[in-house]
Amino acid sequence: DVMLEFKALTKRFNDKVAVEDVSLTIPQGQMVGIIGRSGAGKSTLLRMINRLADPSGGELLHKGVDVAKLKGAELRAWRSNCAMVFQQFNLVGRLNVITNVMTGRLHEHGFLSAMLQMFSAQERAFAIRALDRLGMAHTALQQTDTLSGGQMQRVAIARALVQEPEILLADEPIASLDPLNAKLVMDALRAINTEDGLTVICNLHTLDTARAYCDRIIGMQAGRVVFDGAAHELTDAA
Ligand code: ADP
Ligand code: ADP
Repeated sequence: DVMLEFKALTKRFNDKVAVEDVSLTIPQGQMVGIIGRSGAGKSTLLRMINRLADPSGGELLHKGVDVAKLKGAELRAWRSNCAMVFQQFNLVGRLNVITNVMTGRLHEHGFLSAMLQMFSAQERAFAIRALDRLGMAHTALQQTDTLSGGQMQRVAIARALVQEPEILLADEPIASLDPLNAKLVMDALRAINTEDGLTVICNLHTLDTARAYCDRIIGMQAGRVVFDGAAHELTDAA
């Protein structure tokens, strides 16, 4: 089953081409690693999927619908369907962990309700279960900015899970972490991919990580895809 189909997708910033003529399909349940140097267009490619960046040209199809054209409620629904984790976690440091996780339900409740913690018992239980899967349930009532970076990234993944998305986007999820925490975070992403069948697309800066965890590696250079294949097809020369 095809989850996403890119057709000649392009993104320009003024005169600068960040992503150029990318065409590929991503099947449901695949774990994809995008690698390439800083400035290669990885982040822009990922951000076009959930429309943090709007494509300048081409199409991006999800089940036959061009997500580049979605607006209003349909765009919000699409964004909640592709949860994202970021290099710098993007949590609210002053809120406690469980409240940060519950913000993954904002699309259901709106911001005020989330702040007033108007969630059902079922939603709370789901959030605790998500934290527990990441080994973070014991921190539920801690203020988030007391956590380490690796713990924060696992909280951010729990927040993504409570969105109940089909797709999980991760933009350099381990670039700020030490090796042990990087391993915990990548193990968690892979477990979610295999256990829940989520399609996972992550930007990584090291080939070794992509090789160790991903079904497929997409290499980018100057906005273009220069490699697309299984890890074992990628020689060190590439
Ligand atoms: P990567 O994630 O591989 O480091 P990016 O997608 O962040 O690459 O950037 C690709 C290119 O697009 C870079 O040259 C970058 O400077 C440029 N770029 C990214 N975002 C913007 C923006 N908002 N405005 C202008 N140029 C941008
Ligand atoms: P990363 O290295 O994590 O991809 P960047 O430092 O490239 O992050 O970009 C951080 C932010 O600045 C992003 O929102 C990106 O879109 C924007 N940006 C990147 N390059 C440019 C640029 N040349 N002009 C304007 N905005 C940019």
